[in-house]
Amino acid sequence: MKILVCVSVVPDTTTKITFTDNDSQFNKAGVQFIINPYDELSLTRALEITEASGGTVSVITVGEADTEPVIRKALAMGATDAIRVDASPKDGMYVAAQIAVQAKSGEYDLVLTGRESIDYNGGQVQGLLAEMLNWPLINVATELDADASTVKATRDIDGGRETLSCALPAVVSAQKDLCEPRIPNMRGIMMARSKPLNVVPATEKYDYTSITSYELPPAKSGVKMIDAAKAEELMDLLHSTEKLF
Ligand SMILES: Cc1cc2nc3c(=O)[nH]c(=O)nc-3n(C[C@H](O)[C@H](O)[C@H](O)COP(=O)(O)OP(=O)(O)OC[C@H]3O[C@@H](n4cnc5c(N)ncnc54)[C@H](O)[C@@H]3O)c2cc1C
Repeated sequence: MKILVCVSVVPDTTTKITFTDNDSQFNKAGVQFIINPYDELSLTRALEITEASGGTVSVITVGEADTEPVIRKALAMGATDAIRVDASPKDGMYVAAQIAVQAKSGEYDLVLTGRESIDYNGGQVQGLLAEMLNWPLINVATELDADASTVKATRDIDGGRETLSCALPAVVSAQKDLCEPRIPNMRGIMMARSKPLNVVPATEKYDYTSITSYELPPAKSGVKMIDAAKAEELMDLLHSTEKLF
């Protein structure tokens, strides 16, 4: 089985976010980038599936050259090879279109994504990709198995769970709880240096949306400490100042 795992390169969750150009551009300076946590899950599960029943796992990122150290980390986790579509994506439609081209030409059986990227939180690439490929999509999977012809996945639904299956090729997106993310070991890190990382040019030109400005949430007000013995003061504050009841 040939699995393609989509990897979005995102700022570390502890990053202090700032903007430039009149708050219209994200400021990358000094930012530590990581594999999108949901993509770490889909990559780990892809590796588990191919280790159990054979096959290869390729990773794909649509991004600039500075994403390569993070792509190497995906290779260190165990991916066979990597594709970087050389582009500066600004839109989920654009990203999906680039990945669709590679998924088709590489004749993959299964494409895995995360449920969303934790930077722009679009949650849209997987749906757009499935539509462009005309493949079925199972979204936000918490369990995933696949054999040569079929994929089976479980999802949490309101008040329960559902299990679905569909014929390959298909797209599946990962939700938390899919598996424990794999941490690269020293051997993996050494091997990753010589694994193929193929850089391909962007082809499709979908740039439907662009961000005009960003705004940070208001700064949190300071914490007011209340003596544990003064519960009445706490109740009064919650009632008259915070208006919680
Ligand atoms: C410096 C910088 C500036 C950016 N500026 C913008 C911007 O202005 N507007 C904007 O929308 N985005 C911007 N991005 C983010 C990037 O373009 C996103 O990949 C794209 O917008 C999709 O985001 P999303 O939230 O819709 O993805 P989602 O739909 O939430 O992602 C779902 C899944 O799709 C896959 N995926 C998403 N993106 C990629 C990718 N690039 N490569 C491979 N797989 C992917 C992953 O598996 C992910 O889990 C920027 C990124 C950087 C590093």
